[in-house]
Amino acid sequence: MAATQYFFSPGPTKVPHRVACAESRAMVSHRSSDFMDVFEEMTRDLQEVFQTQHDLLTLTCSGTGAMDATVANFLNPGDKALVLSSGNFGSRFRDICQSYGVDAEYMEFPWGEAVDPEAVRRCLAQDEEHKIKAVLMQHNETSTGVFNPVEAVSRARGAHPAILIVDSISGMAAVPLKTDEWNLDVVIAASQKAFMTPPGLSFISVSPKAWEVQAASTQPKYYFDLANARKYLAKRQTPATPAVSLIYAMGEALKMLKETGLEQVLADHAFRRDLLRAGIQAMGLEPLAKEDCASPAITAIYAPPGIEPGRITKLMSRKYQAAAAGGMGRLKDTTFRMGHLGYMADLDIVGGLAALEMALLECGHKLELGAGAGAAQKLMMERYRD
Ligand SMILES: *Cc1c(COP(=O)(O)O)cnc(C)c1O
Repeated sequence: MAATQYFFSPGPTKVPHRVACAESRAMVSHRSSDFMDVFEEMTRDLQEVFQTQHDLLTLTCSGTGAMDATVANFLNPGDKALVLSSGNFGSRFRDICQSYGVDAEYMEFPWGEAVDPEAVRRCLAQDEEHKIKAVLMQHNETSTGVFNPVEAVSRARGAHPAILIVDSISGMAAVPLKTDEWNLDVVIAASQKAFMTPPGLSFISVSPKAWEVQAASTQPKYYFDLANARKYLAKRQTPATPAVSLIYAMGEALKMLKETGLEQVLADHAFRRDLLRAGIQAMGLEPLAKEDCASPAITAIYAPPGIEPGRITKLMSRKYQAAAAGGMGRLKDTTFRMGHLGYMADLDIVGGLAALEMALLECGHKLELGAGAGAAQKLMMERYRD
């Protein structure tokens, strides 16, 4: 039996023992005051991580459900939306818009690079009639391992009234984001990425300006009617039965985050990214993302020429018990990914690099065993110097 599970999935991520224990607490009614206390505390702690005073709604569904809900509540059929994309999840927002009859203007940037706020500024400046009602973007693009300049995009709107909707599902609690300070209208997160909680909950913060937009919503919806969720939030409840156990789990995960401190948690993520990048570069591999936009949450890595990325991840996972992820979309045949978000230790990265080295060697890539792991060890010793 393996003592340690090396798990580099970009989500779901590893669930700490404390969180799993909280999840298994005895069931209560979701209309009981005991539950309402837990729900209220979770919501308050979550607002601290979002860095917002806005209403923060909890939905029982995965992150895509929350993306769906934002389109259904903040965009009407025939509305124009500017969808920024530099990877696989950008196209998901476009597809959701299209399924709701929203006219999505799709602005795509090279995969591996961040979206360009200047292009957003130009596009919105040309929209003199204010036809564009919302700008949609990812905070952290999980397919490419790039984080986007959300604050700069928000500012690039200038006086244009479009609301900004940010998918921070893989970014929240891993990559810095300040909802109120950056003037973000709608921000989405989910339980199973940096929040160390099993999948099944998602979260949406809504600014007063976005609520005004929502009040004029004509889009058909029922389960995802956010005005109804807001009404129940005021009573410390949700309209329908929520995933009670996951809310217990999430509450505990947020306590752990608070104990460490958000700043420290973010710094730890950035350091694990640095460890991984130093390690792969020392073994002759290239990350997809450039240094200035390299995600603290996940790294996409080019497979060496002539080696199928699927072979590398299969060897890593099945033989050496270090679960990495495949490439996404058009990157499937050239890249693989290693997540470093959530409940992880720096030493996990050293272990993952060691597994990667063994897998690469077996695939015929020339390298010295220990080259990558050693580079990470050196960085670790510098950080841990007394
Ligand atoms: C994981 C992820 C999603 C999808 O979330 P699900 O919980 O799988 O529905 C959406 N956007 C980004 C950026 C993600 O990383």
